[in-house]
Amino acid sequence: MLRGVPVVAGVRYAPVIRPGRLPVIDVGAGEASIDESVRPAEAERFVAAAAAVATRLRDRAAHATGAASEVLAATATLAQDRAWLGAAEKRIKDGTPVVQAVVQAVEQFVAMFTQLGGLMAERVADLQDIRDRVVAELSGLPEPGVPLPDIPSILCAEDLAPADTAGLDPKLVVALATTLGGPTSHTAIIARQLGIPCVVAVAGLDVVEVETMVLVDGTLGTVTVSPDPAVAGEAVAAAQREAERAAHWSGPGATADGHAVSIFANVQDGAAARAARETPAEGVGLFRTELCFLNRDTEPTVDEQTDIYAEVLEAFSGAKVVIRTLDAGSDKPLKFAGHPDEANPALGVRGIRIAEGNPGLLDRQLQAIAAAAKRTGTEPWVMAPMIATAEEAESFATQARSHGLIAGVMIEVPAAALLADRILEHVDFLSIGTNDLAQYTMAADRMSAELAALTDPWQPAVLALVAMAVRAGAAAGKPVGVCGEAAADPLLACVLTGLGVTSLSAAAAAIQGVGAKLAQVTLQQCQAAADAVLGAATAADARAAALAALGN
Ligand code: PEP
Ligand code: MG
Repeated sequence: MLRGVPVVAGVRYAPVIRPGRLPVIDVGAGEASIDESVRPAEAERFVAAAAAVATRLRDRAAHATGAASEVLAATATLAQDRAWLGAAEKRIKDGTPVVQAVVQAVEQFVAMFTQLGGLMAERVADLQDIRDRVVAELSGLPEPGVPLPDIPSILCAEDLAPADTAGLDPKLVVALATTLGGPTSHTAIIARQLGIPCVVAVAGLDVVEVETMVLVDGTLGTVTVSPDPAVAGEAVAAAQREAERAAHWSGPGATADGHAVSIFANVQDGAAARAARETPAEGVGLFRTELCFLNRDTEPTVDEQTDIYAEVLEAFSGAKVVIRTLDAGSDKPLKFAGHPDEANPALGVRGIRIAEGNPGLLDRQLQAIAAAAKRTGTEPWVMAPMIATAEEAESFATQARSHGLIAGVMIEVPAAALLADRILEHVDFLSIGTNDLAQYTMAADRMSAELAALTDPWQPAVLALVAMAVRAGAAAGKPVGVCGEAAADPLLACVLTGLGVTSLSAAAAAIQGVGAKLAQVTLQQCQAAADAVLGAATAADARAAALAALGN
């Protein structure tokens, strides 16, 4: 049994598939010219290989939806583009060995596309992707990227890039397990979106071969290699019963004995908010506004911002929506925020710290939020990211209130958790960002796969700081929620409830699981789990103690 970090709950038993590796393209040592007699056959072999690649891409496009489907269909069309096919064929007919001809023809078009710039330059990566696929086909190698399995399979990989996962069909790829990656890595985000069980940072996964049967447990964070089929079958069935309970859960958030905990959604734009409205989410606990502007070179105008914020407020009209002001910097730089060059951007000018050098940016955002509130007749709450001191909280609250908004702050820095009582003198609510709180408490980069065990939100030190902030909120009679990934873990959500949080905010795909789990346990069980976790020495002990207290 291999151990990793659990990311999305659920249990699956299926054979392993792996992404094909990129073919090693060795063109330098190839023969200078191929015999005239084989040139027509080689040209035909090339045309057939390009057609096979295009067909497979079209198949994947048909299985995918939305943007992923469009990306795959466009790549399939490019694979059949007459211009580059003709250029490669001509080279083969002139005697260039086939792989060399493919590489040279693609190089020629890459140079051309790059020179044209703009949209054409953006197709360079697609063309190189097609080159790798065609070369793999010609060389009899598995296609690079994720293969389309015939039967439900478990995708195991070192790590997954966005391109690997465009168009993954959750009916055929039923779980993910990776050697690298942390709970906030790209793999984790994709798994959550697809709603499939996922375990990351699994030591020893690399040697598990394709077609081996494995049991992935996204609740415990384990991958069992070649388990007893009967035992595996029972584990899947038990998890299935749990999932059915989750599917039937319709909110609102409460424990079995009726202790209410609001369950909110994390969203990044209007579309995500409308999708979240389809779940029992009672509102939005975290609207990550910076994600709307990652591709922007210039600051969006107040009117543009107003339209975007109004879309989210509209989707949840009549419900609570917490809008976070721009959390720019570190892993989410914004071109227009004027980030300085820094050796350690995660410890640098990010989040609220940007307002110091650029107060207008925050003010214009607050103006837009206030305008969106007026337009939609709603009363959004606003909160600032990366608050470290009571002074910063006070200054933000004053500015937000000057726009008529209800003001809170995120607790993501240990200093803010330690002095939460003093921060609460200035703001109306707190929201704990456990992703950054774990990063800063454990002095471990949240993007580092090697340090995933340290950035685990089950680390008792992180939970001790959460407990401090929650206690301060209770003493002040003000709400304290959790909006980091910790709130998306059904078991940890029960622990957080036991610690006393008043709301949990998670990705839409996680909401049913969290709500259903909470509905099965009593407040007393949650409190017992919270006590046990605070007394644990390691993240694994904390998890085991919570499982025992919550009757699992
Ligand atoms: C967090 O840090 O937990 C959080 C919710 O913010 P983000 O993940 O956007 O940094
Ligand atoms: Mg954060």
